[in-house]
Amino acid sequence: MAPLPCRPTDIPALNLIPQILADADRCVLCGMCLPHCPTYGLTRNEAESPRGRISLMLAVARGQLEPTPGLHGHLDRCLGCRACEAMCPSKVAYGRLLRNAREYLYRQQHSPIADTLATPARRTLLRGALRLFQASGLQRATQKLHLFGRGAAGRLVQGLPEVGAAPALPALTPAQGPERGQVALFVGCTGDLLQRALLHDARRLLSALGYRVHIPPTQDCCGALHVQQGDGDSARRLARQNLAAFPLEAEAIISVASGCGALLHEYDQLLEDEAAAGFARRVIDINAFLAAAEWPDTLELRPLAQKVAVHESCTLRNVLHAQKALYTLLRRIPQLEVVELPHNERCCGAAGSYLIEQPEDADALRADKIAAVAELQPQLLASANIGCAMHLAAGLREAGLAVDVVHPVTLLARQVTSDK
Ligand code: SF4
Ligand code: SF4
Repeated sequence: MAPLPCRPTDIPALNLIPQILADADRCVLCGMCLPHCPTYGLTRNEAESPRGRISLMLAVARGQLEPTPGLHGHLDRCLGCRACEAMCPSKVAYGRLLRNAREYLYRQQHSPIADTLATPARRTLLRGALRLFQASGLQRATQKLHLFGRGAAGRLVQGLPEVGAAPALPALTPAQGPERGQVALFVGCTGDLLQRALLHDARRLLSALGYRVHIPPTQDCCGALHVQQGDGDSARRLARQNLAAFPLEAEAIISVASGCGALLHEYDQLLEDEAAAGFARRVIDINAFLAAAEWPDTLELRPLAQKVAVHESCTLRNVLHAQKALYTLLRRIPQLEVVELPHNERCCGAAGSYLIEQPEDADALRADKIAAVAELQPQLLASANIGCAMHLAAGLREAGLAVDVVHPVTLLARQVTSDK
C-alpha cells in the first residue's frame, strides 16, 4: 500500500480507541513474539516487529504520536499473518488490534481491487475477460515474456490459475444416499472468479459424504481485502449480507479458502452481535470438515504414487487452527507421500493484497518456500488458500519448477472413483 496521508479529520471516528487501548495494553513488551515475526526477521527493525507496531498503535491511540506516513508504512508492512498472536504468552489479540488500528487510521480508504471483487457484475465481466485472455494463449505469452512487467498487473498474471469453463454453481445439491445433514458452502469473490471447479469438487464430495449442500446465491465477498485496507464500513456491509444469505438449517458454513474462512470465523468481532456470533460458530474450513467427517465405504480413492508437499497458510494455522486436517485428509489417498513444507510457521508473503503492495518483502519471504520445494522435489504442492497458491505458483514458474499447485480438495476429487 502506498504511504497515505493522515486520517482525514472530517470523517467521524468510530469508537475504536477504547478497544485499541485495551488490546495494546495487554502487551508486556517481553519480545517473545519477535523471533516469529517474518518482517522483523527480514529487517531486524523494532518498528517492523509486533512489539514495535503495538507500541506505535498504543502511542497513536493515546494521542502521543501523530499518524504520519512513516507510521502507516510500518503497519502496511505487517503481513497480518498473526504468527505473533499464536506465540504471545499475554494473549494479545493482535489481529483485532491491527484491524481496528487500520480502520482508525485509514478510515474510508477504498481499494479498487477489493471493490471490483466485491461487485458481482464486475466479477462476471472480469471472469469473461480472463477466460478469453487464457483461451487465446495470451496469458502464456505474457507470462513467458513478462509483458505486464513486474508490477501489480504482472504479478497477478504470473500467478493466475486457469479460470476454466465450469458452469454456475447450483443453489442446492442433494445428498447422495441417506442424508446426514445440511451444510452451506461459502463461495467468496475469488472462488466465484477463479475457483469454480474447486467449488464443484467440494459440493460433490460433500454430497457423496451424505450432506445436502446449499450455495446461497445472495452471498458475497467475505470482506477480508476491505479489512486489510481499513475499510471497515464495506467489510461490515458485506458481513451483514452474508449473515442474511446463509440458511439457518445449515449446520456448518464451509469455506474452501482459509483467508475467507478466517474472517467469517471472526464476524462476531466485526459486527459484535448475537447473530454474527451464531454465524461465526458455524464457520469451518473444508479440510477440517472433511477430515472429521465419516466417509462411506462406497467412496473409494484411487492410489496416487506421487509426493505432495503441504503448505500451511497462516490463516489456517494461526486463526482457524486447522492445519493438521490437511495431512489427515491427504493421507486418505493411497500411496500418496505427504510431506510438510519446512518452516510452515513462516508466512509465504502472499497475505491478501500484500503480494501486490509489498512485492519485495513478498518475494523475499516466498524465496525460502521455493527453495524448500526445489529441495523436496514433490510433484504437487497443496495449499488451502487461493492467495498463497497464486503467489507460490508464480514463484515456481519463475524458478522453472514444474510443480502442480493444488487445493487438497481438488486432489481428493481427482482420485475419487465412485463419485457421480
Ligand atoms: S509476545 Fe505478546 S506480550 Fe510479548 S512483546 Fe509480543 S505481543 Fe507483547
Ligand atoms: S502479524 Fe505477522 S508480520 Fe505482523 S507483526 Fe505479527 S508476526 Fe509480524
